[in-house]
Amino acid sequence: MCLLMTLLLRPEPRLESGLWVVVFTLPIIVVHTMAVSIASYRLIRTVARQNRQLDELRRTDAQTGLAARSHWQEVASASLERFHTHAEPACLLMIDIDHFKPINDLHGHTVGDEAIQVVGRVIRDCVRAQDHAGRYGGDEFVVVCSNASTATAQAMAERIREQIATVRLRELPGLRLTSSIGLAEATDRQLQLRDWINDADAALYRAKHLGRNQVSAFLAPAAAANAALSVVPAPGL
Ligand code: GH3
Ligand code: MG
Repeated sequence: MCLLMTLLLRPEPRLESGLWVVVFTLPIIVVHTMAVSIASYRLIRTVARQNRQLDELRRTDAQTGLAARSHWQEVASASLERFHTHAEPACLLMIDIDHFKPINDLHGHTVGDEAIQVVGRVIRDCVRAQDHAGRYGGDEFVVVCSNASTATAQAMAERIREQIATVRLRELPGLRLTSSIGLAEATDRQLQLRDWINDADAALYRAKHLGRNQVSAFLAPAAAANAALSVVPAPGL
């Protein structure tokens, strides 16, 4: 009703403030608007920086500085995808410290922690720029070797194994570490990341089974059966 009356009568607008009031308040309005804009801009930049830091934390394993599981799994999935779509070769290394539990049990968890940190550093120093070194969990690490032939990945794995053997811990310089490494190249059999990880895990298990302190490549089931047959002694021997 009120609105209707206003529309019908159309009262003349009356300027309540004098010219001087307008002249004096205008700079305040301008300064206030600028101050609010600057403060908002700074707030947005701070939030963006903190989001980047949070993302970095999410992607990094706190103990070793290597890629956290969610991050290297994303990278590995993308690498497997590129293998299927563009036939770009890739390999996955699964690295495990040998007899790690007794280190904790005999020398304490701080020595075990230092071993994990130093091994993480060694692995990071051995990989190429396009590779991603990550922590699987506990004393297990992974390297996603993107655009790498099996020979390249094998050489890298051997270098990692050799370098881990040279590690000397600050807390216990007399301790010698060894590692076992499983290598699985990307193949058509692996439809999902899980399949690729399982193959690398099987190769690691084989390296452990064959005596530890070695690199072992994944053998497809037929090749594995032949390998097993070749170590079975012939009857009568
Ligand atoms: P294997 O040669 O077969 O690999 O034997 P292992 O003793 O290394 O294997 P196992 O998986 O039994 O040992 C892993 C141990 O690592 C068990 C767990 O208590 C310990 N562990 C896991 N995460 C950490 C960690 O962050 N710090 C320390 N100090 N120990 C850890
Ligand atoms: Mg172990």
